[in-house]
Amino acid sequence: MKKRELVILGAGPAGLTAAVYARRADLDTLVVEKGVPGGQIRITAEIENWPGLLKAAGADLADSFHRQAEHFKADFLTADIKSLRLEGDRKIVVTSAGEIEAGAVIVATGAAFRRLGCRGEEKFIGRGVSFCAVCDAEFFVDETVAVVGGGNTAVEEAMYLTRFARKVHIIHRRDEFRADPMIRQRAAGNEKLVPVWNSVVEAIEGGDLVERVVVRNVKTGELSALDVAGVFMFIGTLPQVEFLGGLLERREGGWIVTDSRLATSGPGVFAAGDIVSGAIRQAIIAAASGCAAAFAADTYLKIKA
Ligand code: NAP
Repeated sequence: MKKRELVILGAGPAGLTAAVYARRADLDTLVVEKGVPGGQIRITAEIENWPGLLKAAGADLADSFHRQAEHFKADFLTADIKSLRLEGDRKIVVTSAGEIEAGAVIVATGAAFRRLGCRGEEKFIGRGVSFCAVCDAEFFVDETVAVVGGGNTAVEEAMYLTRFARKVHIIHRRDEFRADPMIRQRAAGNEKLVPVWNSVVEAIEGGDLVERVVVRNVKTGELSALDVAGVFMFIGTLPQVEFLGGLLERREGGWIVTDSRLATSGPGVFAAGDIVSGAIRQAIIAAASGCAAAFAADTYLKIKA
């Protein structure tokens, strides 16, 4: 079995920053990632709260994180992470490309978009139901679409969609958005964005492709249908922790518990980024915690040596 000093699980802002710091500390570092490095920012239209950058496409920022980790000679393995085994002092990462033994592990697999679970959602994924505006907006030029949710992601991605779609209904279960004030103000000034307040989605309907969304007003109980060609779901995130099984202490929802140095309940296993319980879910916080986890892993490995 291959042995590495540090194995980082996930290549979002947390994992890639951890890789940069670990390599600069001269740790033999492998990053395991199932897809293209970058994490959620790769599918974010625009980032305008990364320090020093007035505005950047999420994909460009993701690429520059990846390039920087490669520049410092972190190794990358594209594979599915199947499980993590702790056998006494040994830490074994099981991937679709084989098993790797690690001196220390940083879990930075982040969070994935939640599904709504309404009738039709599963059936129409890829046929009008989407979780990524950047990926799919171009299919909806001059169409009417719906966005579900009221947080920063929903409102920002809805605004991005208005560049393509004729009209964007934003279906939210309350009568004001949860999104930050500046984002709410911008949304209020966008004529193509039409809030559907106090409403939840009951069903998504159509033939081969999405044709309408059925919404229920939570105050009156009234059902109505909106003719739309697409439905974009942005109702929050869930931690990507399936591979952990019952390993590591977690909070409700699956978020990993760490101490202030990002150590988990597993010896030599650290966690960073959105996956950490109580984390403010921002790219800058994920990157900062990746840095802190790399320092903690380095200290752990030095004490062990
Ligand atoms: P979020 O802030 O948790 O918002 C989720 C939204 O979905 C809420 O409006 C919530 O409604 C709604 N929702 C949840 N479950 C629902 C259900 N079953 N049916 C209908 N609506 C439902 O999630 P997010 O917008 O993805 O953001 C995640 C984190 O990333 C947040 O901390 C956010 O600030 C951060 N973020 C920041 C930026 C930025 O700084 N520019 C951009 C994107 C994300 P309620 O409001 O009624 O609870």
